[in-house]
Amino acid sequence: MRIGFSEAATPFESASQTARVETEDWAGTNMFCLNCGCPRLNRYTANKPVADLYCTECGDQYELKSQSRAFGRKVMDGAYETKINRLRSDTSPNLILLQYNRKRRTVENLKVVPRYFFVPQAIERRAPLSLTARRAGWVGSNILLDRIPASGQIAVIQSGIVRNRSHVLEEWNRLRFIQEKRGDARGWLLEVMRCLQNMGQSDFSLADVYCFEQELAAVYPRNNNVRPKIRQQLQVLRDGGFLEFLGNGRYRLR
Ligand SMILES: [Zn+2]
Repeated sequence: MRIGFSEAATPFESASQTARVETEDWAGTNMFCLNCGCPRLNRYTANKPVADLYCTECGDQYELKSQSRAFGRKVMDGAYETKINRLRSDTSPNLILLQYNRKRRTVENLKVVPRYFFVPQAIERRAPLSLTARRAGWVGSNILLDRIPASGQIAVIQSGIVRNRSHVLEEWNRLRFIQEKRGDARGWLLEVMRCLQNMGQSDFSLADVYCFEQELAAVYPRNNNVRPKIRQQLQVLRDGGFLEFLGNGRYRLR
């Protein structure tokens, strides 16, 4: 994998348009499929709603977001309805977050979020476009990156350094157990996972996790059994090899 963009830079109307073409071109030449390890991804020829690249081996799709500044709390995405429908039918694409260096024309940081990390609480509905806009009434979406657990953002390039591919694939494979959960079950699992990682400590007690009770109740206001739900997620995370039970209500992230 090379981190530099191709030499033949074509001038486009705007800098953002040039960057989009260059980063898409880069991904089509340099990116591999994290889902099956296939050494390359293919670009869709026509404009596809919510996907830019795909793998011919496993069929996984990828959406590419690129920008020159670091990614913040949220990233703007396509039509809200489309996003939610794909999420409900479990056909969301994986998300590539590419941060480039405009001057050096290289990829600085690149992370990939597996498609099954996209649950309703990670997608925000934007206000409809005003009546004076060209696409009046159109409703877009934001992907809320801060709702996605840290382990669901797998680094491929960090500060211009390409990470060992087998380590990347290993990290991806460790998360596969999440795929087996559907709907709210997956939502709960990811919420608890996010809370655990936000604690910033690998060893913790059940009481520590219960500190998130209010926060989780706010996400699922119709659920009155937040504590049993939390304990259930801890078991799923243990069975998935993500968490260790140390006994006496103590846990450790693996
Ligand atoms: Zn693949």
